[in-house]
Amino acid sequence: MEELVALCKRRGFIFQSSEIYGGLQGVYDYGPLGVELKNNIKSSWWTSMVYEHDNIEGLDASILSNPLVLRYSGHEDTFSDPMVDCKKCKSRFRSDTVANKCPKCGSSDLTEPRPFNLMFKTSLGPIEDENSFAYLRPETAQQIFINFKNVVDSTSKSLPFGIAQIGKAFRNEITPRNFIFRVREFEQMELEYFVKPGEDDDSLNSWVQKRLEWWKEQGVPTDSIELYEVPIDELAHYSKRTVDIMYKFPHGLEELEGIANRTDFDLGSHSKKQEELNINSEVKSNNDSNSKLAAQDEDSNWFVPFVIEPSAGVERGFLAILNEAYTHEDIGDGKTRIVLKLKPHLSPVKAAVIPLKKNNQEIVDLSIKTKNKLQALGFGRVMLENTGNIGKGYRRHDEIGTPICITIDFESLENNTVTVRDRDSMNQKRIKIIDLENYFTSQLK
Ligand code: ATP
Repeated sequence: MEELVALCKRRGFIFQSSEIYGGLQGVYDYGPLGVELKNNIKSSWWTSMVYEHDNIEGLDASILSNPLVLRYSGHEDTFSDPMVDCKKCKSRFRSDTVANKCPKCGSSDLTEPRPFNLMFKTSLGPIEDENSFAYLRPETAQQIFINFKNVVDSTSKSLPFGIAQIGKAFRNEITPRNFIFRVREFEQMELEYFVKPGEDDDSLNSWVQKRLEWWKEQGVPTDSIELYEVPIDELAHYSKRTVDIMYKFPHGLEELEGIANRTDFDLGSHSKKQEELNINSEVKSNNDSNSKLAAQDEDSNWFVPFVIEPSAGVERGFLAILNEAYTHEDIGDGKTRIVLKLKPHLSPVKAAVIPLKKNNQEIVDLSIKTKNKLQALGFGRVMLENTGNIGKGYRRHDEIGTPICITIDFESLENNTVTVRDRDSMNQKRIKIIDLENYFTSQLK
């Protein structure tokens, strides 16, 4: 973990937030390369969900939530961790991390565990009172449920179908830790997949397989993963069954993604006329909603769809992908290198174009032209690496996972060829400039 943290800072992937003022606990900023990697992870998820499924639509809903949303979802009552306070030094801990003694001062004068709600509140408008607040959403899912009818009416979808969303979520975690693994501000990639009751068990199994496949395509192999069947007494209040995808993080085996059968709890809770809907789960009686969040069967009877939810954290994905890609390699002659063996579609920089001499105008001009041509192909960022030191350029681009380095030298001016270097094999070969676009495309596809 320390090596990953150091690489992230050194190369500009991740910085501690508010660093110049001593930081802000559990919050991080993504630097020039971090934002690219994060965007690439999100884009890969979006492509696999929305573009590759004709029955899944996207959504980008608000972070600020009407308190009623999180009241009917059950979060106001249950989204909490049990906490104990040390009466002597006034520190607060999650009760499962304390064994009768304060971990800070050793006192055994502790309170009984009390629930501590993890949601952040903020006030809306100019006057702060108890009626003018909104929550920052603790998960993106609720905004999907409350938009169920909007999406159905505007897209004419019928079951089974899904709504996908990527966005920020906020949790006032008591003990943020392990770098970006547990933070207070993070992003989730969530799919809510609506099915007929009775089709939910099969659908959950099939999503578990699809999600394992997707992680594999991102460079997180199945042998770094264990599936965890969440025991019944640990299930969230809405869940009939949850399978967690657990990844061997540098600090231990922990949840990367959860795949839950949320039954008809959420749509049922947010719906009006609940008594007409044959709801299976125990929902809060709702007199505030103005919408029926339900579907009709062949005989025009109303029912509430069940929902399967694969929910993954972008930060945890980022950490797992980085951890898998990070390689310390012996390259002979007593030399080593650090290389990020990222899948090319995730690499922050797709290719670096390196002029041999940074002061030779002809070489630099040809490099800029080459860079612009590759950039226009639309695979992502192509970088002009004009530092005049090829060895340093290679080292830097190995460390940030750039799949291809292209060097332009005097020979390039004479015979229209360039040297391409492959990140993983370190093989170099000369190819014609007119063949470069094809080479680049074939490496990145
Ligand atoms: P944990 O048990 O680790 O707190 P959770 O079960 O509360 O996680 P979910 O509510 O299932 O998490 O959220 C879905 C996903 O969101 C998680 O699998 C994880 O990837 C991500 N996530 C949840 N909380 C955090 C956090 N504090 N920091 C970073 N990612 C998070």
